[in-house]
Amino acid sequence: MTVKIGVLALQGAVAEHIRSVQRTGAEASPVKRVEQLEELHGLIIPGGESTTIGKLMRKYGFIEAIRQFAADGKPIFGTCAGLIVLAQRIDGGEEPHLGLMDMTVVRNAFGRQRESFETDLEVAGLDRPLRAVFIRAPLIKEVGPGVEVLSVYNGEIVAARQNRLLACSFHPELTDDSALHAYFVAMAEEAAAEKSVNQRGV
Ligand code: GLN
Repeated sequence: MTVKIGVLALQGAVAEHIRSVQRTGAEASPVKRVEQLEELHGLIIPGGESTTIGKLMRKYGFIEAIRQFAADGKPIFGTCAGLIVLAQRIDGGEEPHLGLMDMTVVRNAFGRQRESFETDLEVAGLDRPLRAVFIRAPLIKEVGPGVEVLSVYNGEIVAARQNRLLACSFHPELTDDSALHAYFVAMAEEAAAEKSVNQRGV
């Protein structure tokens, strides 16, 4: 089945994510209103500025709607600012946004010297290194027991998964390699297949 993936389009790198999802063969569309969540099998929260994205999410009712989306067992992928938006704890005491993933994140964690850089990363679940673009990126300082670490860069966690929640510090949509998007699309396919089995009452 072809799954439909939405990209939250309040602020940030939306078009690039849509292209990356489409390269995997899945459908992709921008999401501007909560009603659009209904028809989706998965949601990407893009990079941008987490405080701005969080503010707009509150304004347009996305906080409750996306929490419900997760409670329905639908996968969510947060990249860069999207990772911050997913976290239960933001270092420094800033109010969390969705508060879904059991992790503490540090914003702008790579300092001024390394504000933007690219590197090849080993990511668990991918069969070859992924080119990763970091832009004023956050890092994951600590994770709870239900969170699987997928990638570490210089001793810092930069990608993780908690059941159907996926998060990375970098911008996987800014290269031609859609491997991590394909990984997320597979999560959405699995969730959708499970749902249709349950609906048939099997
Ligand atoms: N620095 C941004 C923040 O803290 C995240 C940067 C990004 O998404 N590229 O929200």
